[in-house]
Amino acid sequence: MRLYSTKNKKAFTQLKEAVLKGLPDDNGLYMPVEIPRLPEAFLNELSGFSFQEIAFTVCRSLFEHAIPDNDLKDIVYNAVNFPAPLARLDAEKYVLELFHGPSLAFKDFGARFMAQLMSYFNQGEERELVILVATSGDTGGAVAAGFLQAPGARVVILYPSGKVSMLQEKQLTTLGHNITALEVDGTFDDCQSMVKQAFLDSELTRKIRLTSANSINISRLIPQTFYYFEAFKQLPDDGREVVFCVPSGNFGNLTAGLMAQRMGLPIHHFIAATNVNDVVPEYLESALFNPRPSVPTLSNAMDVGNPSNFARMLDLCEGKEEGSTWNNMRKSITGYAFNDEQTRQAVAEVYRKFGYIIDPHGAVGYLALCRFQQQYSNTKGVILETAHPAKFLDEVESILNEKIEVPERLAILAEREKRAIHLSNDFNGFKKWLMDNLA
Ligand SMILES: *Cc1c(COP(=O)(O)O)cnc(C)c1O
Repeated sequence: MRLYSTKNKKAFTQLKEAVLKGLPDDNGLYMPVEIPRLPEAFLNELSGFSFQEIAFTVCRSLFEHAIPDNDLKDIVYNAVNFPAPLARLDAEKYVLELFHGPSLAFKDFGARFMAQLMSYFNQGEERELVILVATSGDTGGAVAAGFLQAPGARVVILYPSGKVSMLQEKQLTTLGHNITALEVDGTFDDCQSMVKQAFLDSELTRKIRLTSANSINISRLIPQTFYYFEAFKQLPDDGREVVFCVPSGNFGNLTAGLMAQRMGLPIHHFIAATNVNDVVPEYLESALFNPRPSVPTLSNAMDVGNPSNFARMLDLCEGKEEGSTWNNMRKSITGYAFNDEQTRQAVAEVYRKFGYIIDPHGAVGYLALCRFQQQYSNTKGVILETAHPAKFLDEVESILNEKIEVPERLAILAEREKRAIHLSNDFNGFKKWLMDNLA
């Protein structure tokens, strides 16, 4: 499998290097050179396959024999070890539940798959691979759970003290084994700059095999294509065209959907749903891409002012003539943005009308799908439900005015004992800790 950088389409990289490096040196993003179409026999017979079999077939086609079948099967089956069921709201609206993994958000798919691939590619290396992650809450939990007990890998998570929720903190600090949490007196930005500085420190990079679990690593994107096929499989065959509605922040999920479409899945259209951080809906409207600082909202995992996967979306929609890329993107994607008040009302409405508890991110998706279907009725819409509502317990309970059920894997965390190493936000202290403990 060959990959190029979105900043240089003529220099190719192999999968192993792209996964272990994360980012090309030119600061572009890795993309597959070929996105092969899957055989019709497979696309027409999805219902004959399990989710894991679908994931394996899709992955094998993209990887083009970069990994032998037996090994790839282990990687995919270990990563995709929880379901993605489709819930029906009504004949035109469905919800794809992507929150059945350990951290209760769809990021588990990407994090688990990346962990499996990194350990696979690190086999035979004498030194363990040290994955540094700075987190403002959610990503760290998914990455930690994904790498738990992965052979040859150690994860060091930096999080800002007092600035993550109690349950998020427990997700980072109670796993043990190869996962170490560093509680930093400072902000998320401090954590991120300490990690960045570590990669630039030649003494550290000489003594320790460092890598990052960056959200734009290609190995996090690829498994997100799998569940579009899995959703299709579960839809009734009623002749309606299928549209996917994707609550978006960095637009990884939507980019993966475009790739699934390229692989032959007959997706009629995409809806990009955002909160007031609406850089992409604005671009679709005006052809102007205007990144800006993000604004905090209720659907906070989508508070992104400069979506990192936009460069990949442009590539997937690229046209030859002036202005044609924008036109192509508009043909595939419609964007809508909603504020927090609308989001709260949508959480309440989905419960009232359908008896379904949706989280604030999914609720933004619900609003966008309703808006789209006012114009394009007779479509069948799938909302990607990106997180479990219990992750936003206080907010959702106050909107619905009732108690909601907390999944056991979240509830038991509250009793676990926190283990973290306290550090100041000073790089030298962090470096000393790394050298003393990992070099
Ligand atoms: C990360 C995240 C998103 C945004 O996904 P992107 O792929 O970055 O667009 C949406 N919802 C939840 C719950 C998330 O954690």
